[in-house]
Amino acid sequence: MNNRIIDFRMPQSLVMGVGASRQLPDILRKRGVKKVLIVTDQGIVKAGLAPAIREAIEAAGVGVAVFDGVEPDPRIEIVAACASAFRAAGAEAVVGLGGGSSIDIAKVAAVVAALGGRADDYIGIGKVPGPGFLHFALPTTAGTGSEVTPIAVLSDAGEHLKKGIVSEYLYPCAAIVDPELMVSVPPAVTAYTGMDTLTHAIEAYTNRFAAPFIDAFALEAIRETGRHLRRAVTCGIDLEARAGMARAATLGGLCLGSVNTAAVHAMAYPLGGTFNVPHGLANTVLLPAVMEFNMPANLGKFAAIAEALGEETRGLSRRDAALLAIEAVKELSVDVGIPQGMRYLGIPRDAIPAMAEGAIQVTRLMGNNPRTITVKDVQKIYEDAY
Ligand code: NAD
Repeated sequence: MNNRIIDFRMPQSLVMGVGASRQLPDILRKRGVKKVLIVTDQGIVKAGLAPAIREAIEAAGVGVAVFDGVEPDPRIEIVAACASAFRAAGAEAVVGLGGGSSIDIAKVAAVVAALGGRADDYIGIGKVPGPGFLHFALPTTAGTGSEVTPIAVLSDAGEHLKKGIVSEYLYPCAAIVDPELMVSVPPAVTAYTGMDTLTHAIEAYTNRFAAPFIDAFALEAIRETGRHLRRAVTCGIDLEARAGMARAATLGGLCLGSVNTAAVHAMAYPLGGTFNVPHGLANTVLLPAVMEFNMPANLGKFAAIAEALGEETRGLSRRDAALLAIEAVKELSVDVGIPQGMRYLGIPRDAIPAMAEGAIQVTRLMGNNPRTITVKDVQKIYEDAY
């Protein structure tokens, strides 16, 4: 019997639904915030989202400064630049507006601006000694679920690796999830961020440390992704599909604090750190091959994934039903236009041994994998996914 005790946490407040972001100015006023720093990237500015949110906050009499220097899969150094902008602006709170990259930088900058030091000081689990400035998270992608996680992921360009900061002090005080902020996400980004959500849910659900309470979030995230991702990619203005994917991403994020991910994420780190493959895309090309490896560890759960993705499993053996889960994930990935293999992402085949050595060292995640995994297994999976 799985009797693991979980310590489930989330932001104090989760405001979700079409138009939810219009509540931000009021939420800031009620908290007594006089000036905020919006942390975002150029893509969000160009999409008109940062200017609109800025105007709305200012109209409510709250001062605003903007830091738009976040980049996709951001380097650690960006935290220092963002914390300096925070201090220079005399801000009292941070608004993380963007995908996981902007929200992660906002989370860590709120800590560094309050506690001093550098982002590197806080890498690892439980290294942040106390709360940072207030942080409000507004996701503009349906992917990472960072708005509800205690995690920030930063790229170390020198070491060609991605590094995680995990701390209860990284939870935003409020997550405001508004599908309207997501309609401008381009199809390719919608596809790989949505597949990232699916990866979170599958890796939490099949995790060695899976917990029944978290399974409920994971299965629902898988269902929502199966129902809505194709529509969100093919018709970005379909608000119902965007709302479904927004729920999926937040549900997927809720799986990360108590259970987290496993081999797919560990193996994706070298793809991002060395070859700059966006996080969600790296996960997506690896997911089916890792599922094939992990399937024998829990046929029943893989069969349940097939069902959650809408596959008909009645009359099938558990093994055949489990195999159907892998097929369903591959079909979804093809339908949303994901390149089918690492070979299409500019990764030379002879980089695989070094990537395997790097990935196996991400013990924080590899230890969660449902099937014990060796460096040889990792190499074979990279080959299968090539
Ligand atoms: P992202 O934040 O890097 O954004 C990707 C691109 O999409 C950017 O160019 C951005 O400008 C654009 N974009 C985002 N929203 C848009 C919109 N509404 N309209 C137009 N363009 C838009 O992508 P992401 O996948 O959300 O975040 C990835 C990062 O999150 C990675 O660094 C990853 O490691 C990290 N991550 C964090 C957690 C966590 O719990 N903190 C979990 C998983 C992943």
